[in-house]
Amino acid sequence: MFNKVLIANRGEIALRILRACRELDITTVAVYSKADRDLKHVRLADESVCIGPNSSTESYLNIPAIISAMEVTDAIAVHPGYGFLAENADFAEQVQKSGFVFIGPDPETIRIMGDKVAAIRAMKEAGVPTVPGSDGPLPDDAEACIMMGRKIGFPVIIKAAAGGGGRGMRVVHTEASLWNSIQVTKTEAKSSFGDDTVYMEKFLQNPRHVEVQIISDGQGNTVHLYDRDCSMQRRHQKVIEEAPAPGINEEARQAVFDSCVKACNDIGYKGAGTFEFLYEDGGFYFIEMNTRIQVEHPVSEMITGVDLIKEQIRVCAGEKLSLRQEDIKATGHAIECRINAEDAKTFMPSPGLVDNFHPPGGLGVRVDSHLYSGYTVPPYYDSMIAKIITHAEDRRSALRRMEGALDELVISGIRTNTDLHKDLVRDEAFIEGGVNIHYLEKKLGL
Ligand code: ADP
Repeated sequence: MFNKVLIANRGEIALRILRACRELDITTVAVYSKADRDLKHVRLADESVCIGPNSSTESYLNIPAIISAMEVTDAIAVHPGYGFLAENADFAEQVQKSGFVFIGPDPETIRIMGDKVAAIRAMKEAGVPTVPGSDGPLPDDAEACIMMGRKIGFPVIIKAAAGGGGRGMRVVHTEASLWNSIQVTKTEAKSSFGDDTVYMEKFLQNPRHVEVQIISDGQGNTVHLYDRDCSMQRRHQKVIEEAPAPGINEEARQAVFDSCVKACNDIGYKGAGTFEFLYEDGGFYFIEMNTRIQVEHPVSEMITGVDLIKEQIRVCAGEKLSLRQEDIKATGHAIECRINAEDAKTFMPSPGLVDNFHPPGGLGVRVDSHLYSGYTVPPYYDSMIAKIITHAEDRRSALRRMEGALDELVISGIRTNTDLHKDLVRDEAFIEGGVNIHYLEKKLGL
Protein backbone atom coordinates (compact mmCIF):
# COMPACT_ATOMS: atom_id res chain seq x y z
CA MET A 1 0.00 0.00 0.00
CA PHE A 2 1.11 3.60 -0.62
CA ASN A 3 2.49 5.33 2.45
CA LYS A 4 1.69 8.83 1.21
CA VAL A 5 -0.96 10.16 -1.17
CA LEU A 6 -1.36 13.67 -2.55
CA ILE A 7 -4.95 14.86 -2.99
CA ALA A 8 -5.13 16.96 -6.16
CA ASN A 9 -8.53 18.47 -5.56
CA ARG A 10 -10.55 20.66 -3.20
CA GLY A 11 -13.85 20.83 -1.35
CA GLU A 12 -15.96 17.87 -0.32
CA ILE A 13 -14.20 15.31 -2.53
CA ALA A 14 -10.78 16.21 -1.14
CA LEU A 15 -12.16 15.63 2.35
CA ARG A 16 -13.77 12.36 1.24
CA ILE A 17 -10.41 11.14 -0.15
CA LEU A 18 -8.61 12.22 3.04
CA ARG A 19 -11.03 10.17 5.14
CA ALA A 20 -10.42 7.06 3.01
CA CYS A 21 -6.63 7.54 3.22
CA ARG A 22 -6.78 7.80 7.00
CA GLU A 23 -8.64 4.51 7.25
CA LEU A 24 -5.95 2.92 5.10
CA ASP A 25 -3.18 4.43 7.29
CA ILE A 26 -1.93 6.55 4.41
CA THR A 27 -0.25 9.91 5.15
CA THR A 28 -2.01 12.71 3.27
CA VAL A 29 -0.77 15.77 1.42
CA ALA A 30 -3.28 18.51 0.61
CA VAL A 31 -2.59 21.02 -2.13
CA TYR A 32 -4.51 24.29 -2.25
CA SER A 33 -4.81 27.62 -4.02
CA LYS A 34 -4.37 30.90 -2.14
CA ALA A 35 -8.16 31.24 -1.81
CA ASP A 36 -8.42 27.78 -0.26
CA ARG A 37 -6.08 28.07 2.71
CA ASP A 38 -9.01 27.50 5.09
CA LEU A 39 -10.47 24.39 3.48
CA LYS A 40 -11.35 21.75 6.03
CA HIS A 41 -9.20 19.00 4.50
CA VAL A 42 -6.17 21.32 4.35
CA ARG A 43 -6.42 21.66 8.12
CA LEU A 44 -6.81 17.92 8.60
CA ALA A 45 -4.11 16.74 6.17
CA ASP A 46 -0.73 15.64 7.50
CA GLU A 47 1.02 18.07 5.15
CA SER A 48 -0.14 20.82 2.84
CA VAL A 49 1.36 22.78 -0.03
CA CYS A 50 0.10 25.99 -1.64
CA ILE A 51 0.25 25.40 -5.40
CA GLY A 52 -0.75 28.77 -6.78
CA PRO A 53 -3.12 31.71 -6.96
CA ASN A 54 -6.94 31.64 -6.90
CA SER A 55 -7.53 30.83 -10.55
CA SER A 56 -7.83 27.07 -11.06
CA THR A 57 -5.77 27.27 -14.26
CA GLU A 58 -2.83 28.39 -12.15
CA SER A 59 -3.48 26.01 -9.24
CA TYR A 60 -5.65 22.87 -9.45
CA LEU A 61 -5.00 22.58 -13.21
CA ASN A 62 -1.32 23.44 -12.93
CA ILE A 63 0.39 20.13 -13.71
CA PRO A 64 4.02 21.19 -13.00
CA ALA A 65 2.99 22.70 -9.63
CA ILE A 66 1.24 19.48 -8.59
CA ILE A 67 4.12 17.27 -9.67
CA SER A 68 6.57 19.56 -7.81
CA ALA A 69 4.40 19.22 -4.70
CA MET A 70 4.68 15.43 -5.01
CA GLU A 71 8.44 15.69 -5.32
CA VAL A 72 8.80 18.04 -2.37
CA THR A 73 6.61 15.94 -0.08
CA ASP A 74 7.70 12.49 -1.29
CA ALA A 75 4.12 11.50 -2.03
CA ILE A 76 3.94 8.23 -3.96
CA ALA A 77 0.55 8.53 -5.57
CA VAL A 78 -1.96 11.22 -6.50
CA HIS A 79 -5.74 11.02 -6.24
CA PRO A 80 -7.34 13.43 -8.71
CA GLY A 81 -10.95 13.29 -7.41
CA TYR A 82 -13.42 14.49 -10.08
CA GLY A 83 -13.24 17.53 -12.36
CA PHE A 84 -9.93 19.42 -12.68
CA LEU A 85 -7.27 16.89 -13.86
CA ALA A 86 -9.25 13.70 -13.17
CA GLU A 87 -9.73 12.83 -16.84
CA ASN A 88 -6.63 14.51 -18.24
CA ALA A 89 -4.56 11.79 -19.92
CA ASP A 90 -1.53 14.10 -20.20
CA PHE A 91 -1.55 14.61 -16.44
CA ALA A 92 -1.79 10.86 -15.77
CA GLU A 93 1.09 10.34 -18.19
CA GLN A 94 3.31 12.99 -16.63
CA VAL A 95 2.62 11.59 -13.17
CA GLN A 96 3.78 8.17 -14.38
CA LYS A 97 6.82 9.59 -16.20
CA SER A 98 7.88 11.35 -13.01
CA GLY A 99 7.82 8.00 -11.22
CA PHE A 100 4.55 8.43 -9.32
CA VAL A 101 1.24 6.57 -9.41
CA PHE A 102 -1.94 8.11 -10.80
CA ILE A 103 -4.98 6.75 -8.93
CA GLY A 104 -7.10 5.96 -11.96
CA PRO A 105 -6.81 4.05 -15.23
CA ASP A 106 -3.81 4.15 -17.58
CA PRO A 107 -3.33 7.33 -19.64
CA GLU A 108 -4.12 5.35 -22.80
CA THR A 109 -7.51 4.24 -21.42
CA ILE A 110 -8.35 7.80 -20.35
CA ARG A 111 -7.41 8.99 -23.84
CA ILE A 112 -9.63 6.45 -25.60
CA MET A 113 -12.61 7.13 -23.34
CA GLY A 114 -12.11 10.90 -23.70
CA ASP A 115 -12.59 10.51 -27.45
CA LYS A 116 -16.27 9.67 -27.66
CA VAL A 117 -16.01 8.17 -31.13
CA ALA A 118 -13.25 5.81 -29.97
CA ALA A 119 -15.12 5.05 -26.74
CA ILE A 120 -18.33 4.14 -28.56
CA ARG A 121 -16.35 1.93 -30.92
CA ALA A 122 -14.61 0.14 -28.04
CA MET A 123 -17.91 -0.37 -26.20
CA LYS A 124 -19.66 -1.67 -29.29
CA GLU A 125 -16.91 -4.25 -29.76
CA ALA A 126 -17.40 -5.37 -26.18
CA GLY A 127 -21.14 -5.79 -26.77
CA VAL A 128 -22.35 -2.72 -24.87
CA PRO A 129 -25.56 -1.34 -26.51
CA THR A 130 -25.02 2.08 -28.15
CA VAL A 131 -27.26 4.77 -29.68
CA PRO A 132 -27.93 4.20 -33.41
CA GLY A 133 -25.58 6.60 -35.16
CA SER A 134 -22.83 7.32 -37.65
CA ASP A 135 -20.41 4.68 -36.32
CA GLY A 136 -17.50 7.09 -36.51
CA PRO A 137 -16.62 10.66 -37.55
CA LEU A 138 -18.85 12.38 -40.10
CA PRO A 139 -17.36 12.61 -43.58
CA ASP A 140 -16.80 15.99 -45.27
CA ASP A 141 -19.60 15.24 -47.69
CA ALA A 142 -23.04 16.87 -47.37
CA GLU A 143 -24.84 14.26 -49.44
CA ALA A 144 -23.38 11.36 -47.43
CA CYS A 145 -24.33 13.04 -44.13
CA ILE A 146 -27.89 13.63 -45.29
CA MET A 147 -28.18 9.97 -46.34
CA MET A 148 -26.91 8.99 -42.91
CA GLY A 149 -29.43 11.27 -41.17
CA ARG A 150 -32.26 9.77 -43.21
CA LYS A 151 -31.19 6.27 -42.32
CA ILE A 152 -30.91 7.04 -38.59
CA GLY A 153 -34.13 9.07 -38.68
CA PHE A 154 -34.64 12.69 -37.57
CA PRO A 155 -34.25 14.28 -35.06
CA VAL A 156 -30.53 13.54 -34.77
CA ILE A 157 -27.86 15.03 -32.51
CA ILE A 158 -24.42 16.16 -33.76
CA LYS A 159 -21.78 15.71 -31.07
CA ALA A 160 -18.13 16.68 -30.80
CA ALA A 161 -15.87 13.64 -30.29
CA ALA A 162 -13.82 15.65 -27.81
CA GLY A 163 -16.87 17.25 -26.14
CA GLY A 164 -17.65 17.25 -22.45
CA GLY A 165 -19.62 18.99 -19.74
CA GLY A 166 -22.72 19.15 -21.91
CA ARG A 167 -21.01 21.31 -24.53
CA GLY A 168 -20.40 20.65 -28.22
CA MET A 169 -23.80 19.17 -29.08
CA ARG A 170 -26.55 20.28 -31.44
CA VAL A 171 -29.96 18.73 -32.10
CA VAL A 172 -31.10 18.74 -35.73
CA HIS A 173 -34.76 18.29 -36.58
CA THR A 174 -34.77 18.55 -40.35
CA GLU A 175 -32.76 17.36 -43.32
CA ALA A 176 -32.60 20.94 -44.65
CA SER A 177 -30.70 22.27 -41.64
CA LEU A 178 -28.37 19.28 -41.20
CA TRP A 179 -25.31 20.32 -43.18
CA ASN A 180 -25.26 23.85 -41.76
CA SER A 181 -25.61 22.48 -38.19
CA ILE A 182 -22.71 20.10 -38.76
CA GLN A 183 -20.51 23.02 -39.89
CA VAL A 184 -21.47 25.16 -36.88
CA THR A 185 -20.84 22.29 -34.43
CA LYS A 186 -17.46 21.62 -36.07
CA THR A 187 -16.41 25.26 -35.74
CA GLU A 188 -17.48 25.33 -32.10
CA ALA A 189 -15.75 22.03 -31.37
CA LYS A 190 -12.53 23.32 -32.94
CA SER A 191 -12.50 26.46 -30.80
CA SER A 192 -13.64 24.78 -27.55
CA PHE A 193 -11.77 21.47 -27.71
CA GLY A 194 -9.15 21.99 -30.40
CA ASP A 195 -10.61 19.11 -32.43
CA ASP A 196 -13.40 19.45 -35.00
CA THR A 197 -14.28 15.75 -35.24
CA VAL A 198 -18.05 15.32 -34.93
CA TYR A 199 -20.38 12.34 -35.13
CA MET A 200 -24.11 11.75 -35.40
CA GLU A 201 -26.54 9.93 -33.12
CA LYS A 202 -30.27 9.43 -33.07
CA PHE A 203 -31.73 12.04 -30.70
CA LEU A 204 -33.76 10.18 -28.10
CA GLN A 205 -36.82 12.25 -27.18
CA ASN A 206 -37.56 11.35 -23.58
CA PRO A 207 -34.77 9.27 -22.12
CA ARG A 208 -33.72 8.80 -18.54
CA HIS A 209 -30.06 9.03 -17.51
CA VAL A 210 -29.07 5.69 -16.00
CA GLU A 211 -25.46 4.82 -15.25
CA VAL A 212 -23.57 1.78 -14.04
CA GLN A 213 -20.77 1.91 -11.45
CA ILE A 214 -17.89 -0.51 -11.83
CA ILE A 215 -14.59 -1.16 -10.13
CA SER A 216 -11.76 -3.11 -11.78
CA ASP A 217 -8.26 -4.15 -10.80
CA GLY A 218 -6.74 -4.21 -14.28
CA GLN A 219 -5.94 -7.89 -13.69
CA GLY A 220 -9.11 -9.26 -15.18
CA ASN A 221 -11.35 -8.76 -12.15
CA THR A 222 -14.28 -6.39 -12.39
CA VAL A 223 -17.47 -6.01 -10.38
CA HIS A 224 -20.43 -3.71 -10.89
CA LEU A 225 -22.13 -1.86 -8.05
CA TYR A 226 -25.53 -1.66 -9.72
CA ASP A 227 -27.04 1.40 -11.34
CA ARG A 228 -27.90 5.01 -10.51
CA ASP A 229 -30.57 7.25 -11.95
CA CYS A 230 -29.42 10.84 -12.50
CA SER A 231 -32.25 12.13 -14.68
CA MET A 232 -33.04 15.13 -12.47
CA GLN A 233 -30.84 17.61 -14.35
CA ARG A 234 -30.64 21.28 -15.21
CA ARG A 235 -28.43 22.29 -18.14
CA HIS A 236 -26.97 18.76 -18.21
CA GLN A 237 -25.92 19.20 -14.57
CA LYS A 238 -27.17 16.53 -12.19
CA VAL A 239 -29.23 17.84 -9.28
CA ILE A 240 -30.51 14.66 -7.56
CA GLU A 241 -29.20 11.11 -7.96
CA GLU A 242 -30.40 7.80 -6.62
CA ALA A 243 -29.50 4.13 -6.47
CA PRO A 244 -30.74 1.75 -7.64
CA ALA A 245 -32.45 3.25 -10.70
CA PRO A 246 -36.19 2.69 -10.13
CA GLY A 247 -38.46 0.71 -12.43
CA ILE A 248 -35.89 -0.63 -14.88
CA ASN A 249 -36.57 -3.68 -17.02
CA GLU A 250 -34.74 -6.37 -15.06
CA GLU A 251 -33.58 -8.41 -18.02
CA ALA A 252 -32.08 -5.39 -19.81
CA ARG A 253 -30.50 -4.29 -16.54
CA GLN A 254 -28.68 -7.57 -15.91
CA ALA A 255 -27.54 -7.72 -19.54
CA VAL A 256 -26.12 -4.22 -19.31
CA PHE A 257 -24.30 -4.99 -16.02
CA ASP A 258 -22.74 -8.05 -17.66
CA SER A 259 -21.65 -6.14 -20.74
CA CYS A 260 -20.07 -3.33 -18.65
CA VAL A 261 -18.08 -5.88 -16.66
CA LYS A 262 -17.02 -7.64 -19.84
CA ALA A 263 -15.99 -4.36 -21.48
CA CYS A 264 -13.77 -3.50 -18.48
CA ASN A 265 -12.07 -6.87 -18.58
CA ASP A 266 -11.63 -6.61 -22.37
CA ILE A 267 -9.85 -3.25 -22.16
CA GLY A 268 -7.93 -4.06 -18.96
CA TYR A 269 -9.63 -1.22 -17.11
CA LYS A 270 -8.18 -0.27 -13.71
CA GLY A 271 -9.98 1.77 -11.03
CA ALA A 272 -13.49 3.08 -10.55
CA GLY A 273 -15.50 3.95 -13.62
CA THR A 274 -18.99 4.76 -14.78
CA PHE A 275 -20.80 3.76 -17.94
CA GLU A 276 -23.42 6.39 -18.75
CA PHE A 277 -26.52 5.36 -20.66
CA LEU A 278 -29.70 6.90 -21.91
CA TYR A 279 -32.60 4.61 -21.06
CA GLU A 280 -35.74 4.76 -23.16
CA ASP A 281 -38.59 2.30 -23.77
CA GLY A 282 -36.87 -0.46 -21.83
CA GLY A 283 -33.55 -0.18 -23.73
CA PHE A 284 -30.10 1.06 -22.71
CA TYR A 285 -27.97 3.19 -25.04
CA PHE A 286 -24.34 3.90 -24.09
CA ILE A 287 -23.31 7.56 -24.38
CA GLU A 288 -19.97 7.80 -22.58
CA MET A 289 -17.68 6.39 -19.94
CA ASN A 290 -16.28 8.45 -17.07
CA THR A 291 -12.87 7.18 -16.02
CA ARG A 292 -12.95 8.64 -12.50
CA ILE A 293 -14.88 8.68 -9.25
CA GLN A 294 -18.11 10.64 -9.64
CA VAL A 295 -19.91 13.17 -7.47
CA GLU A 296 -22.80 10.74 -7.01
CA HIS A 297 -20.72 7.73 -5.92
CA PRO A 298 -22.10 7.82 -2.33
CA VAL A 299 -25.53 6.50 -3.34
CA SER A 300 -23.86 3.33 -4.65
CA GLU A 301 -21.77 3.10 -1.50
CA MET A 302 -24.87 3.38 0.68
CA ILE A 303 -26.77 0.53 -0.99
CA THR A 304 -23.74 -1.79 -1.24
CA GLY A 305 -21.65 -0.87 1.81
CA VAL A 306 -18.54 -0.73 -0.40
CA ASP A 307 -16.12 2.18 0.11
CA LEU A 308 -15.38 3.05 -3.51
CA ILE A 309 -12.47 5.40 -2.80
CA LYS A 310 -10.69 2.84 -0.64
CA GLU A 311 -11.18 0.19 -3.35
CA GLN A 312 -9.93 2.64 -5.97
CA ILE A 313 -6.74 3.27 -3.96
CA ARG A 314 -6.23 -0.45 -3.31
CA VAL A 315 -6.48 -1.55 -6.95
CA CYS A 316 -4.25 1.31 -8.10
CA ALA A 317 -1.66 0.21 -5.53
CA GLY A 318 -1.62 -3.09 -7.43
CA GLU A 319 -3.82 -5.13 -5.10
CA LYS A 320 -6.18 -7.69 -6.54
CA LEU A 321 -9.85 -6.80 -6.20
CA SER A 322 -11.05 -8.47 -3.02
CA LEU A 323 -14.73 -7.98 -3.84
CA ARG A 324 -16.64 -10.75 -5.52
CA GLN A 325 -19.81 -10.02 -7.45
CA GLU A 326 -21.86 -12.53 -5.48
CA ASP A 327 -20.93 -10.74 -2.24
CA ILE A 328 -22.17 -7.34 -3.39
CA LYS A 329 -25.81 -7.03 -2.43
CA ALA A 330 -27.93 -3.97 -3.09
CA THR A 331 -29.84 -3.17 0.06
CA GLY A 332 -32.59 -0.56 0.22
CA HIS A 333 -32.51 2.74 -1.63
CA ALA A 334 -30.29 5.84 -1.46
CA ILE A 335 -30.89 9.41 -2.65
CA GLU A 336 -28.43 12.30 -2.96
CA CYS A 337 -29.27 16.01 -3.14
CA ARG A 338 -26.51 18.34 -4.34
CA ILE A 339 -26.54 21.52 -2.29
CA ASN A 340 -25.10 24.47 -4.19
CA ALA A 341 -24.20 27.99 -3.10
CA GLU A 342 -26.70 29.53 -5.48
CA ASP A 343 -30.15 31.08 -5.39
CA ALA A 344 -32.89 28.41 -5.43
CA LYS A 345 -34.90 30.32 -8.05
CA THR A 346 -32.48 32.30 -10.20
CA PHE A 347 -29.50 29.92 -9.84
CA MET A 348 -27.20 32.94 -9.42
CA PRO A 349 -24.02 31.92 -7.56
CA SER A 350 -23.93 33.03 -3.94
CA PRO A 351 -20.42 32.78 -2.50
CA GLY A 352 -19.52 34.34 0.86
CA LEU A 353 -19.26 33.77 4.58
CA VAL A 354 -21.25 30.86 6.03
CA ASP A 355 -21.98 32.18 9.50
CA ASN A 356 -23.83 29.07 10.59
CA PHE A 357 -23.77 25.50 9.37
CA HIS A 358 -25.84 22.79 11.02
CA PRO A 359 -25.83 19.54 9.06
CA PRO A 360 -28.71 17.09 9.48
CA GLY A 361 -28.13 13.72 11.15
CA GLY A 362 -29.74 10.51 12.31
CA LEU A 363 -29.96 6.95 11.08
CA GLY A 364 -29.32 6.65 7.35
CA VAL A 365 -28.30 10.29 6.85
CA ARG A 366 -24.87 11.04 5.39
CA VAL A 367 -23.47 14.52 4.75
CA ASP A 368 -20.41 14.88 2.52
CA SER A 369 -19.39 18.51 2.92
CA HIS A 370 -16.37 20.67 3.66
CA LEU A 371 -18.48 23.42 5.23
CA TYR A 372 -18.13 24.65 8.80
CA SER A 373 -19.47 27.74 10.56
CA GLY A 374 -17.15 30.62 9.74
CA TYR A 375 -16.02 29.19 6.39
CA THR A 376 -16.10 31.51 3.37
CA VAL A 377 -17.20 29.96 0.06
CA PRO A 378 -14.84 31.44 -2.55
CA PRO A 379 -16.32 32.66 -5.85
CA TYR A 380 -13.72 30.96 -8.06
CA TYR A 381 -14.80 27.33 -8.18
CA ASP A 382 -17.77 25.02 -8.56
CA SER A 383 -20.73 26.06 -6.42
CA MET A 384 -21.44 22.65 -4.87
CA ILE A 385 -20.93 22.88 -1.11
CA ALA A 386 -22.60 19.76 0.29
CA LYS A 387 -24.15 16.46 -0.64
CA ILE A 388 -26.96 15.19 1.55
CA ILE A 389 -27.43 11.44 1.16
CA THR A 390 -30.19 9.39 2.76
CA HIS A 391 -30.49 5.62 2.80
CA ALA A 392 -33.50 3.59 3.89
CA GLU A 393 -35.17 0.23 3.31
CA ASP A 394 -37.08 1.44 0.26
CA ARG A 395 -37.38 4.45 -2.04
CA ARG A 396 -40.37 6.07 -0.33
CA SER A 397 -38.64 5.87 3.06
CA ALA A 398 -35.39 7.30 1.67
CA LEU A 399 -37.38 10.21 0.21
CA ARG A 400 -39.21 10.76 3.49
CA ARG A 401 -35.87 10.70 5.31
CA MET A 402 -34.54 13.28 2.82
CA GLU A 403 -37.48 15.60 3.56
CA GLY A 404 -36.50 15.54 7.21
CA ALA A 405 -32.80 15.99 6.49
CA LEU A 406 -33.43 19.01 4.26
CA ASP A 407 -35.71 20.55 6.87
CA GLU A 408 -32.96 20.13 9.48
CA LEU A 409 -30.20 21.60 7.30
CA VAL A 410 -29.14 25.14 8.24
CA ILE A 411 -26.70 27.09 6.08
CA SER A 412 -26.90 30.79 6.81
CA GLY A 413 -25.06 33.80 5.43
CA ILE A 414 -25.24 32.65 1.79
CA ARG A 415 -28.10 31.52 -0.42
CA THR A 416 -28.42 27.84 -1.33
CA ASN A 417 -30.65 25.71 -3.55
CA THR A 418 -32.06 23.82 -0.53
CA ASP A 419 -35.61 25.09 -1.20
CA LEU A 420 -35.50 23.64 -4.71
CA HIS A 421 -34.63 20.24 -3.23
CA LYS A 422 -37.39 20.54 -0.62
CA ASP A 423 -39.79 21.12 -3.47
CA LEU A 424 -38.43 18.25 -5.58
CA VAL A 425 -38.54 15.56 -2.89
CA ARG A 426 -42.24 16.40 -2.46
CA ASP A 427 -42.90 16.44 -6.21
CA GLU A 428 -45.54 13.86 -7.17
CA ALA A 429 -43.95 12.69 -10.41
CA PHE A 430 -40.54 12.36 -8.76
CA ILE A 431 -42.05 10.44 -5.85
CA GLU A 432 -43.68 8.15 -8.42
CA GLY A 433 -40.18 7.53 -9.88
CA GLY A 434 -38.64 7.41 -13.34
CA VAL A 435 -38.93 11.04 -14.55
CA ASN A 436 -36.91 11.77 -17.72
CA ILE A 437 -33.97 14.13 -18.27
CA HIS A 438 -36.25 17.02 -19.35
CA TYR A 439 -38.49 16.90 -16.29
CA LEU A 440 -36.75 19.50 -14.14
CA GLU A 441 -36.30 22.09 -16.89
CA LYS A 442 -39.96 21.69 -17.87
CA LYS A 443 -41.05 22.07 -14.25
CA LEU A 444 -38.92 25.22 -13.93
CA GLY A 445 -40.48 26.57 -17.12
CA LEU A 446 -37.16 26.63 -18.99
P1 ADP B 1 -21.04 15.28 -21.97
O1 ADP B 1 -19.76 14.52 -22.07
O2 ADP B 1 -20.90 16.69 -22.48
O3 ADP B 1 -21.71 15.19 -20.64
P2 ADP B 1 -22.90 13.28 -23.06
O4 ADP B 1 -22.61 12.52 -24.29
O5 ADP B 1 -22.77 12.57 -21.76
O6 ADP B 1 -22.02 14.63 -23.06
O7 ADP B 1 -24.35 13.89 -23.14
C1 ADP B 1 -24.80 14.83 -22.19
C2 ADP B 1 -26.31 14.91 -22.18
O8 ADP B 1 -26.83 15.28 -23.48
C3 ADP B 1 -27.01 13.59 -21.87
O9 ADP B 1 -27.10 13.34 -20.49
C4 ADP B 1 -28.37 13.85 -22.50
O10 ADP B 1 -29.11 14.71 -21.66
C5 ADP B 1 -28.03 14.60 -23.76
N1 ADP B 1 -27.82 13.68 -24.90
C6 ADP B 1 -26.64 13.21 -25.35
N2 ADP B 1 -26.81 12.36 -26.39
C7 ADP B 1 -28.13 12.27 -26.61
C8 ADP B 1 -28.96 11.55 -27.55
N3 ADP B 1 -28.45 10.74 -28.47
N4 ADP B 1 -30.30 11.72 -27.46
C9 ADP B 1 -30.85 12.54 -26.52
N5 ADP B 1 -30.14 13.25 -25.63
C10 ADP B 1 -28.79 13.13 -25.66
